[in-house]
Parts: sequence; C-alpha cells; structure tokens
Amino acid sequence: MTSQLSRQEARSAHARPHSRLNHGRLNHRGLGFTTGELIRTDLLTPRLRRLCVALPDLAWTPGQHVRVVVSGPARSWAGGVLPRGTLRSYSVFDYDGSVLQLCVLDHGDGPGARWARAARPGDLVRLSAPQGRLVVRPAPYYLFAGEETAAVTFGPMLRTVGTARVYGVIEVDGRADRLPLHAGLAWRYRDGRSAAASASLASAVAGLDLPSQPGLAYVAGEARTVQAIRSHLVRDRGWPRRQVLTKPYWTPGRTGMD
Ligand SMILES: Cc1cc2nc3c(=O)[nH]c(=O)nc-3n(C[C@H](O)[C@H](O)[C@H](O)COP(=O)(O)OP(=O)(O)OC[C@H]3O[C@@H](n4cnc5c(N)ncnc54)[C@H](O)[C@@H]3O)c2cc1C
Repeated sequence: MTSQLSRQEARSAHARPHSRLNHGRLNHRGLGFTTGELIRTDLLTPRLRRLCVALPDLAWTPGQHVRVVVSGPARSWAGGVLPRGTLRSYSVFDYDGSVLQLCVLDHGDGPGARWARAARPGDLVRLSAPQGRLVVRPAPYYLFAGEETAAVTFGPMLRTVGTARVYGVIEVDGRADRLPLHAGLAWRYRDGRSAAASASLASAVAGLDLPSQPGLAYVAGEARTVQAIRSHLVRDRGWPRRQVLTKPYWTPGRTGMD
C-alpha cells in the first residue's frame, strides 16, 4: 500500500509540466548531487519522521546513506544545483527506483531535525548520490547493534540477509520507538535515559549468547556507545577489528559527524 501510493505520487511529480525537479545526470553522476521533490512525510514512530523524495535512477545498496542540504541557499552552476548550506547524512530506508525514503529522528534542536520537522510535500530536496561502505557482506552470521538512528540503516540491510543467522540489540527510548526489524534482534528500552555512552546497550551486547567463532558486526549510532561495543567485541570476545564495522552518527557536543 505504502510503496504503491509512493509510486503514484512519484509518477505525478515526474509528469508535472515545467517540473522544478532537476534529475540532470551531470548532477548525481558527475557532481554527486541531485534534486528531488518531497512527495510525502509521515511518522513511523512518535519521533521518527519518514520523508519520501521522488528521485528516479539512483544506484543504492542497503546500508548506504545520502548527504542532504538541510539549510542554507542552493547555488546554481552550469544548469546544476550545488549545495552550499549545511549537510547532514541520512540512511536510505528504502528505494524502489522512483521514491527514496529517509527517516529522521526528531532528537530536539539541530539543522537536520528542524529541516525534517518543517519539510512539506512540494519542497525540493538537494542531496548526494547514495554512498557509504556499511553494506552487507558475506559472513557466517551477523551482529547488529545501535539505537533509533542505526535502526533506520539496519532495516534495509536486514531485508537482504535472507536465511543467515542474525543476532543483535537495538536500544530505543520506549516500545513505541521500535521499527519492524528482523525477529533475531532483541530490543532494550532507555525509558528516558540518554542514548549517549549507553552502558545498557553495551552490556546488552556483552550479554548476547553468540557462536564461539566471530561473525560480522555492524555497529552504528551514538559515537561513544559505538566505541564501547567495538572495544567489547575486539577486546573481550577476540573478534578481528576488520569484522567489526562501525559508523558513529552523532554525539553530544558535536554537529554533523560525517
Ligand atoms: C552515515 C550516517 C547516517 C545517518 N543516518 C541517520 C538516519 O537515518 N536518521 C537520523 O535521524 N540520523 C542519521 N544520522 C545522523 C544525522 O546525520 C544527524 O547527525 C542528526 O540528524 C543530527 O543532526 P542535527 O542537525 O539535527 O543536529 P546537530 O547540529 O548535528 O547536533 C546537535 C546536537 O544534537 C544532539 N543530537 C544529535 N543527534 C542526536 C540523536 N540522534 N539523539 C540525541 N541527540 C542527538 C547532540 O547533542 C548534538 O551535539 C546519520 C549520520 C551518519 C554519519
């Protein structure tokens, strides 16, 4: 139902006469940025806002993200639109070849959070081509760990793992913040505590009953929590560093970590 609706909305956005969309191949193939039209927003959880952007012809691998111009003016150049404002990275939650879905956590104040709250259908969105190396590779089994923002990244990755064994923990503020992810994952709730340097998420990962041989771990979200989980896997469980793929997304006091 959702993707059918999106496809219809995308078709009408692309069919619009004198469309303001800019899909010039130069933009997203050459300069790395393109412009799409926001066709819909909704709340997947009370704090996680999905933004659907009409954008055909992108190459995307689950786990990759885009960089979005969330504030500041655009600059025209040779028929293209270059970003000059503030950039923030958002994982692609889904892409069906015509509509790109992003999910932005409303954590409070920041250019990215403000942009997503204010976004309305009809807005133009300037963003990079999908990029990033946090993608699913062959492994004996997978471990996923992170919080609300990491859950956005993991959703599409988990849809590609097929029958592989999956372990992991996702920590969110409360039950209402859960996304429908793989059944192999455990959920933990912070109940109002900060997600920064989350000892409870790190100790939940330490408590997992994992096979004796290392698998492949994906750990994302708040930087200090990511670091603690990587240290545990490498130091306490003896996993090779190359089998622990990490990506810090945010941390208190820092802005735009990518
Ligand atoms: C590769 C990558 C993928 C990402 N994917 C997503 C995604 O799919 N969805 C998503 O929502 N974010 C994602 N992020 C984080 C995103 O890029 C922004 O950092 C985030 O939206 C905050 O931007 P901001 O401008 O609102 O706040 P900023 O100005 O960047 O941060 C201001 C302050 O807000 C606080 N803060 C920021 N983020 C959070 C948070 N999540 N929880 C609590 N406090 C916070 C911190 O104290 C920070 O110092 C991703 C980051 C990277 C690097």
